[in-house]
Amino acid sequence: MNIRPKIETRFSACPHDCPSTCALEIEKIDEYTIGKVRGAKANTYTAGVVCAKVGRYAERIHHPDRLIHPMRRVGEKGSTDFQRITWDEALDETAEALLKAEQTHGSEAVWPYYYAGTMGLVMRDGIHRLRHAKRYSGMYDTICTALSQPGFMAGAGALRGPDPREMAVSDLVVIWGTNPVHTQVNVMTHAVKARKDRGAKIAVVDVYETSTMKQADIGIVVRPGTDGALACGIMHVLFRDGHADWDYLEKYSDCPKEFEQHLSDKTPQWASDICGVPVDQIEAFARHIGETKRTYIRLGYGFARSRNGSVNMHAATSIATVTGAWLHEGGGAFHNNGSIYHIDKSLIEGQDVRDPNVRYLDQSRIGPILTGDPFDLGDGPPVTALFIQSTNPVSVCPEQDKVKQGFARDDLFVCVHEQFMTETARMADIVMPATMFMEHDDVYQSGGHQHIILGPKIIEAPGECKSNHDVVCELAARVGAEHEGFSKTPRELIDWTLQASGWGTVDELEEKQWIDCQPDFNRAHFIDGFRFPDGKFRFKPDWAGTRIRPFMDRTFGPIDQIPAMPDHWDVIENADDDHPFRLATSPARSFLNSTFNETKTSLEREGRPELFINPKDMTELGLDEGRKIRIGNKRGEVILHARSFDGIQRGVVIAESIWPNDAFEDGRGINTLTSADQPAPNAGGVFHDNHIWIRPAN
Ligand code: SF4
Repeated sequence: MNIRPKIETRFSACPHDCPSTCALEIEKIDEYTIGKVRGAKANTYTAGVVCAKVGRYAERIHHPDRLIHPMRRVGEKGSTDFQRITWDEALDETAEALLKAEQTHGSEAVWPYYYAGTMGLVMRDGIHRLRHAKRYSGMYDTICTALSQPGFMAGAGALRGPDPREMAVSDLVVIWGTNPVHTQVNVMTHAVKARKDRGAKIAVVDVYETSTMKQADIGIVVRPGTDGALACGIMHVLFRDGHADWDYLEKYSDCPKEFEQHLSDKTPQWASDICGVPVDQIEAFARHIGETKRTYIRLGYGFARSRNGSVNMHAATSIATVTGAWLHEGGGAFHNNGSIYHIDKSLIEGQDVRDPNVRYLDQSRIGPILTGDPFDLGDGPPVTALFIQSTNPVSVCPEQDKVKQGFARDDLFVCVHEQFMTETARMADIVMPATMFMEHDDVYQSGGHQHIILGPKIIEAPGECKSNHDVVCELAARVGAEHEGFSKTPRELIDWTLQASGWGTVDELEEKQWIDCQPDFNRAHFIDGFRFPDGKFRFKPDWAGTRIRPFMDRTFGPIDQIPAMPDHWDVIENADDDHPFRLATSPARSFLNSTFNETKTSLEREGRPELFINPKDMTELGLDEGRKIRIGNKRGEVILHARSFDGIQRGVVIAESIWPNDAFEDGRGINTLTSADQPAPNAGGVFHDNHIWIRPAN
């Protein structure tokens, strides 16, 4: 008789780079195996729902291609020619290379480089402890949040807002610049509940008809980088037609009369000429917002990935202030809850040993940096050693040709600690196998809701995988880095961090699984005032004083040219005669940046790299459906296939991403075309702000 194994249900949190940070229930089949992954029903934000790619996580964690042994490169950089070595050999050789770089050029020649392959505070951020203890170069994390967050903070002064669960009691949910059907699925859970329970409308603003827009009642398709114009056109109507809440504006905003005057010529026609949305659609949308007190504006990251992204985010946030929607349950604007947690990461990150004189290098500019751009390096040393955890810059970073050129340097040592043989790992000298989230202890805070969630170890890792924390500590011992954090276990670090932050102990968190950190209504809705000394929302922000990272004591880009008040700031890479199309690289449903692009199901569901093109542009270009095309700009060229798509404005094209570079005919991925320019005010990745030409390929 077959005896079925007893399946336990364990809890965790999704560690991936997605604001939903879903609370998970995971079937544990045995010490090494998981079964199904579900959303935790008892968590009031996750509400039992996760996206399909995490629902089938067993496919990823038990993937036959996982890295399970340390390896040394024996072939060409970029090949898969590696030989198995011991952990001692891998760690000794890496430490030796880091010490050699330090002795030759100084400690700043070593660049520990990381990102959001895990969002766990211990495993993601512990690399800073090694950095600070050794005075290695800092990394300014610009890829994701550096454009959007300053835009929200410029107006509100803090990164928080109305409880995202309040979408369920809203009468109009505006989902702006994010595609929650693809990822961040819980936004839809709460928005759809409002529609079902109270007849609320769902409106979506995006650069193409996304899967989310297909489910919406109102769909607004803008040209990339023109959301500021749309927001101004809406606010013009709100003031013009008596929908501005003047009592609210007088009490809670800095210069409402001046702002009304500023908007007087930002008519729907003016906005339409810039953003391409028909005038009657702008009028109707503005009227709907004006007549709906409970309008909840859920602002995503996507529409900020543009040279004017911070200005656009600020403009969209300003709408809730003009109508006074912040006053109402189910109303206001929300982007991210980063300010509510006040997490003390000093032990995890070794902040007490940080030397403020050590340079910071812009994460997005790894291509120019590795190719020796004096703009980044100044009179500092070149980067001659990289230690990389939880990110895949050869796929995900802009100006990919330069990134590859930099990684190919003979004088650059690279160690990559990873879960799969990514395109970055293939450029490494030493590759180390990394655990996945169910194989180590960590703790997570969500940007898109209000929970701290524990993610305890559930199963044993395969082969010889080690956690990020273990590798950082073992390397630290070999390079002479000293800090008390290196002698603690992940669980001890979590316990210390929670207690120092006022959130109890790790044992208490384990008992509860998560902590709901939602501030009270008055604080969340800024009824107590926006976070400035006078409590007033800023229509006229202090852009020079807006910072997303305390350690970054400077601004970036043409900050003096930012318009004083919301506007269309025309610094985007506009189409021109040589580059008639604007390209956005929006996230594909089955990938999450370059994560999940190793699983069979995700690859099969996505098909192949394609470019969505308006049917009229297809005709004008003489392209048939599925035609192989070459697209390019001054940064390079990419080959993919044309797909006729009528949910997009003429002159705009979308390449859903991020495919592995290898999925493209000549191995050049979509980020060959994206730019590493540093936008104002805080820098940031401008992934949806590109002009290109399109030609048939042979
Ligand atoms: S929606 Fe986002 S947070 Fe939730 S399971 Fe999917 S990737 Fe993870």
